[in-house]
Amino acid sequence: MITIDGKEGEGGGQMLRTALSLALLTGRPFRIENIRAGREKPGLMRQHVTCVEAACAVSGATVSGLSIGSTDLTFRPATVRPGRYHFAVGTAGSTSLVLQTILLPLLGLREASIVTIEGGTHAMSAPPFEFLSEAFLPVLKRMGAGVDLRLVRHGFHPRGGGRIVAEIAPSELTPLEMMDRGALEAESGLVLNAALPGDIAHRELKALRTDLPWPETAFALRELPEERGPGNVILLKARYQQVTEIVTGFARHGVPAPRIARQAAARMSGYQKSSAAVGPYLADQILLPMALAGRCRFTTVKPSSHTHSNARIIERFLPARIAVSMEEDRHVVTIGDG
Ligand code: AMP
Repeated sequence: MITIDGKEGEGGGQMLRTALSLALLTGRPFRIENIRAGREKPGLMRQHVTCVEAACAVSGATVSGLSIGSTDLTFRPATVRPGRYHFAVGTAGSTSLVLQTILLPLLGLREASIVTIEGGTHAMSAPPFEFLSEAFLPVLKRMGAGVDLRLVRHGFHPRGGGRIVAEIAPSELTPLEMMDRGALEAESGLVLNAALPGDIAHRELKALRTDLPWPETAFALRELPEERGPGNVILLKARYQQVTEIVTGFARHGVPAPRIARQAAARMSGYQKSSAAVGPYLADQILLPMALAGRCRFTTVKPSSHTHSNARIIERFLPARIAVSMEEDRHVVTIGDG
């Protein structure tokens, strides 16, 4: 039984989700204490409960300590089975994070699975749908993964109600090196807006156009059906030959919309000015597939505490060693045998 102290490192939900994936992949049970001790509201929230339920549903695992607010959980995995699965978070909790929990275990099977997840598709502090489909999955695909992902309906905070569908084909992951991003192919800034007064989105676009040296035609506004709202999100995308970076700005109450746009533009500019291939969020998310694939390497901007603590959880379950070193203005993450 592996014991994890959820207050170490980042102290967030990812420690639990990575442990769930790894328990399914290795068959090793774990106990986690002090779940999300580093968060304002510690313990399991609805999204985390759904992740655990999903991990149980695909494998017949047994679990104790599963309830909203619980800070201590024991998970005993059983055999992962392919199938048609449907999970509903019930809030605007992230559909992406539920999918990431079970994606790699389902990928390694002999038959395909179809997974439908309902909840938030553009939720704060989680990868929005576009990040999953255009930044994260292309890396997995380059490693050999057969995953098809579809957005059926947008779901914003607080309403939720979004829906994604993933078709996961049996695949074996092969190692990958991502040292350079390659030539720039496209840049775009999209504002998604659902039922928020039009001038909010236009003020965001104006700030983006002022702060980013991208062509006028790179920016667009997409109005979504009113009943999907309220919701507003800024998606900045820079596609390179080897990698795509997506920076997101989530509109929130009490923060002027142009300020959110300017912050997102500054983060994108910071990434584009560096010579690193992988952005800060993608870095923590590709660690697990890479550790499963074998020896991998990538360059990234300053590693986040998510990246450091995810690496430590992976090393608890797998005979892998994840090291970070510095090379000029970028960091190099090396994933190798322990
Ligand atoms: P946690 O905070 O521990 O629940 O983990 C959140 C996960 O969501 C991490 O894998 C982050 O990389 C990811 N994440 C948070 N915000 C974003 C974002 N704006 N874009 C992409 N991924 C994100």
